[in-house]
Amino acid sequence: MRDIIKVTAAILEKNGQIIIAQRKSGDHLSGLWEFPGGKIEPGESPEACLARELNEEFNIEVTIGDFLGSNVHHYDHISIELMAYRASWVSGTISMNDHKAYRWVTVDQLTEYEFTSADVPFVDMLLRRLD
Ligand code: C5P
Repeated sequence: MRDIIKVTAAILEKNGQIIIAQRKSGDHLSGLWEFPGGKIEPGESPEACLARELNEEFNIEVTIGDFLGSNVHHYDHISIELMAYRASWVSGTISMNDHKAYRWVTVDQLTEYEFTSADVPFVDMLLRRLD
């Protein structure tokens, strides 16, 4: 059994819209959409990881809020536990450093994008809020 890599993802909502990002070409799962985040480094808390990743990927400052849940997903090359947290915008101007594209979308627009398998449960969780 291979190691399960812990990865964080942010549900960052601003003005009623959530930010999603598209993985760039050459990346594992290129072209698919995800909630931004990344791998936790040794000794790092999930919250510190997520704040760092959003700063590295978009040059923005956020605060990390509630833990929303996690799921384990086995990709071909890697097994991950994706841990989702709510995040709040603090400051910054988005510049994209690590993705092909990003969008601010309402929850009902999430269905128009193809997400990585590990992110789909979080899309479903957000959609259930609309029921
Ligand atoms: O972004 P990074 O390559 O560090 O992510 C590590 C792994 O976690 C990759 O396999 C990526 O596809 C996956 N991931 C994901 N959903 C996210 C963030 C990362 O499936 N929201």
